[in-house]
Amino acid sequence: MSSPNTSTRTHCPYCSLQCGMTLETVGRTLEVRPWSEFPVNEGALCRKGWTATGLRGHRERLTSPLVRDRATGELRAASWDEALDLVAAGIRAAQEKGGPDAVAVFGGGGLTNEKAYQLGKFARVALRTSQIDYNGRWCMSSAASAGNQAFGLDRGLPFPLADVERTDVVVLVGSNLAETMPPAARHLDRLRENGGHVVVIDPRVTSTGDRADLVLQPVPGTDLALALGVLHLIVAAGAVDEDYVSARTTGFDVVRRSVAAWWPERVERVTGIAASEVRALATLLAGADKVMVLSARGAEQHSQGTATVLAWINVALALGMCGKDAAGYGCLTGQGNGQGGREHGQKADQLPGYRMIDDPAAREHVAAVWGVPPESLPGKGRSAYELLEALGTDDGPSALLVFGSNIVVSAPNATHVTERLEALDLLIVADVVLSETAAIADVVLPVTQWAEETGTMTNLEGRVVLRSQAVTAPRGVRSDLEVLQGLAKRLDSPVPFASDPEEVFAELGLASRGGRADYSGITYDRIRDEHGVFWPCPAPTNPTGDPHPGTPRMFLDAFATPDGRARFHAVEHRGGAEQPCADYPVHLTTGRVLAQYQTGAQTRRVRALADTGPFVELHPMLARRIGAADGEPVEVTTRRGTMTAPARVVDTIRPDTVFVPFHWVGANRLTNDALDPASRMPEFKVCAARVRA
Ligand code: SF4
Repeated sequence: MSSPNTSTRTHCPYCSLQCGMTLETVGRTLEVRPWSEFPVNEGALCRKGWTATGLRGHRERLTSPLVRDRATGELRAASWDEALDLVAAGIRAAQEKGGPDAVAVFGGGGLTNEKAYQLGKFARVALRTSQIDYNGRWCMSSAASAGNQAFGLDRGLPFPLADVERTDVVVLVGSNLAETMPPAARHLDRLRENGGHVVVIDPRVTSTGDRADLVLQPVPGTDLALALGVLHLIVAAGAVDEDYVSARTTGFDVVRRSVAAWWPERVERVTGIAASEVRALATLLAGADKVMVLSARGAEQHSQGTATVLAWINVALALGMCGKDAAGYGCLTGQGNGQGGREHGQKADQLPGYRMIDDPAAREHVAAVWGVPPESLPGKGRSAYELLEALGTDDGPSALLVFGSNIVVSAPNATHVTERLEALDLLIVADVVLSETAAIADVVLPVTQWAEETGTMTNLEGRVVLRSQAVTAPRGVRSDLEVLQGLAKRLDSPVPFASDPEEVFAELGLASRGGRADYSGITYDRIRDEHGVFWPCPAPTNPTGDPHPGTPRMFLDAFATPDGRARFHAVEHRGGAEQPCADYPVHLTTGRVLAQYQTGAQTRRVRALADTGPFVELHPMLARRIGAADGEPVEVTTRRGTMTAPARVVDTIRPDTVFVPFHWVGANRLTNDALDPASRMPEFKVCAARVRA
């Protein structure tokens, strides 16, 4: 590892905004300072970013491998050799008994591009297993699936986030941007200062809704019906951009017919939004020169998530917005590397560069970079939830390696998933602290975190940024790349694995070359010099040719489909997989709070961030009906489980809905594991529940 600097420009360890920051070593302490020139956040950070060094030197930081003692059943400290030998022996035993697919790998959307790439290569080359997927499948995969279907390519935002300021109307569908990524909210404020309008669609009025011109609160799971109704009115008003539709798209006639019966009063009956408000939104959009529709988890984490995003893309396409300056559709990704994590091979059906694993040409290209025969690469594996469900079953994996994921807290129907983890013969978890998942593992491998390592991340705009090492790691800790290198060697991998991140990134570039997410023209030096580089950025075909500038804005001339046209898709509203009934009469929805990130494995341990614990948000009318009082415990029950937490009585939520944040154990014991048929994303955002005081 290189020597640490006293002042290092890097990026926040948490969300997909990847705010730039400066880390300064002052004596023995590490302090966060602004990096004002970095354009994405211009020096601003949220509370989580300012306190990001809080985990450094934490008493719960793991600094030695742990193995479960057979005699006592407890985890005990072990040497790296003992732990890695144990893991390699367990993998061999599992594969001798059950074949290559007896071992599975589960990655994370917070891993650097280098780690995600190396994890995918490790699974396919060293383990020869098809059983690899990652928690990004639970984050924005429905938007990815819809983007691929409509545009031929999925990049969260196909434009820089700052373009929001130059549009006329931005519609946020299921996004609480002001709370999940506060520095990004300044774009909404500037848009309004410029005379533009902000529309927020969310069952709760959040701090994002507080800075909106129009807030619509649909019944959870009905965003799709709202989009159908808005398009119906746009068609009726003659506001479809017919020239654009005929020149740049296909499939509109079927969609036009499919929305004919979605008049506003029908939309009101389904969504609970007054017909007058549906008309107000359609009128605003029909009269705007530039419209931007941005979706997030509220629209996507549904069994109809892909169809919901497609319905909103249809609205943007009908208005002629996609591929136009400061307009179009984009997805606000969530996890730090939610974008890059899905481009480089830790997804069950993909190889690096967003290549599909069942494409013979893709297999040949990647196999040549890896130095193995194409036929040795396994095929497509199970998606994240289906993989977890199969663990420990007769035809499922008996061993699992987990990198960068806290499944016990983050998986839907979490009690069932935890039982599957406990049914494994061998569970290996690489993490920085003893997360809830690490606590039930057979082997725990302590790995480096954020400021202790270098690697690239791809933010929500498709901008590849560089996290640089600022401090040395504690003694006893290894990087994930070193762990994979050590395991590959013990497993007699046919090819060696590098552990230097810059070397791995160069190889990733070669593997991605010619693919949809082409990183081959990006280098660490360019990222440093240019404040990040947007993919696709192919290397010049001639070694002396000019470097590609990167692609901040996509689809300006053509979409990434074979004929260059975007695709309309006719979709139907079905609603949540589980509807309220006499036993479970309200909707449960889940989400985030400002001070915590994902499962809270890191942020719950940062003392400067308030760990309030979970709560149940409900409307005063519902509270009165069940006899609940603010601050007093209430019990929420679904068909999968029960949790108890203090009530938070607020009039900003629909009276038929309760909200629970998912950063603590409990919320996901309640959530539904119904999957979207295209993206295989679970329905975290709505299920039927009962609440009792
Ligand atoms: Fe920026 Fe997100 Fe980090 Fe907050 S958590 S500082 S918004 S990257």
